[in-house]
Amino acid sequence: MFENLEQPPIDALHGVMQAFASDTRDGKLDLGVGVYRDENGVSPIMRSVRAAEERLAAESQTKAYLPLRGFPPFLDAMAGLLFPSGLPQDITAIQSVGGTGAISLALELARKIKPDLTVHIATPTWPNHFGICKRLGIQTCAFDYLDRQSGEPSFENFLAQIAAAVPGDFLILHGPCHNPTGRDFDPASVVKIVAGAERKGVKCLIDAAYYGLGNPLDPDLVWLRELLTMAPDTHLVMSGSKAFGLYRDRIGVLFINTANNKSRDLVLANLEVIARANYSMPAAHGAQIIASILLDEDLRADWERELDEMQARILSIRSAIANAAGDCEIFARIVHDKGIFSLLPLSEEQVNLLAQRDAIYMPRSARINLAGLSHAQIAPFVNSVLSAAQVSSS
Ligand code: PMP
Repeated sequence: MFENLEQPPIDALHGVMQAFASDTRDGKLDLGVGVYRDENGVSPIMRSVRAAEERLAAESQTKAYLPLRGFPPFLDAMAGLLFPSGLPQDITAIQSVGGTGAISLALELARKIKPDLTVHIATPTWPNHFGICKRLGIQTCAFDYLDRQSGEPSFENFLAQIAAAVPGDFLILHGPCHNPTGRDFDPASVVKIVAGAERKGVKCLIDAAYYGLGNPLDPDLVWLRELLTMAPDTHLVMSGSKAFGLYRDRIGVLFINTANNKSRDLVLANLEVIARANYSMPAAHGAQIIASILLDEDLRADWERELDEMQARILSIRSAIANAAGDCEIFARIVHDKGIFSLLPLSEEQVNLLAQRDAIYMPRSARINLAGLSHAQIAPFVNSVLSAAQVSSS
């Protein structure tokens, strides 16, 4: 029965990971994978997470199913993170299998409401935005995220895309720290984009995976709250993978601004039906950890401290690269980009040369994870990149 299956293309990042794993050279560098790493190259279990896990191990009494919509203290805690003075009446929330699962839930519901919708996606983006739409049979329309001349995020491109969209279509917007470019709009521009989308009847889905990693946590949360509340039908996805380091625990949340109380209950009931037929009940571990952290004053304070430390390390790596590179064009944007990623202006040939000659691995797109570098690795990394750029272009 399986003979007619097509071989799927190898995921770009998987290919890099495989090549990295089979390289036996000392000092090889993996700048491909999208997880935060500390100075020792480890993606750490955060202090607050470890403390919460210890508590949980000692105090848990049951492994019985959670409610369909998720672990209530987790949902309350995430709502409290975003809305310290209480979740507005018309916003609903459901726990999800990571941010990925939240995007899937949102778009499956959107397809149910409008089977012929188009999802508008500015590229480059996290490839799974397309993957999720493809799996759901939803058509997509790609447009340029960056202005071709200036290399900055293009407000005009978004406005033009919204003008060409049909009411009921979706527009995906990144929260803080754009993946893969690291180049963010200023927050006020995104507010204007969401307002423009609302006027056209286009629904915005804000995908926030990296809050607290490119900016201090509070302004990120204030901005996300503003985006979610300013326009009815706005969707906000928050992943627990990066800010809590809970990548493998697959925890996220979807908030939807439903515009009134009646829709709120209807929206949640429909999301629950989708979840039920997909994975049935949600997983508990990540939800319990996040709830324990956010609902405990000391753990929460320590979590915020560690998130600040992570953000400070990324900033310090960025400025060390800028110092090592001087006024060289390739790294000109490195201190302005936000979060763990930057997109280097390198050709595929130059990326291959770096892997083959210097054991420095990154995907073909030349997206680098800054957190994959320790301070000691920065000078040799910068020299390798500068020389690869010269060798191939001469
Ligand atoms: N959105 C973006 C932009 C991402 O980069 C990621 C993770 N790489 C996600 C969503 C989803 O992450 P997760 O499913 O682990 O929460």
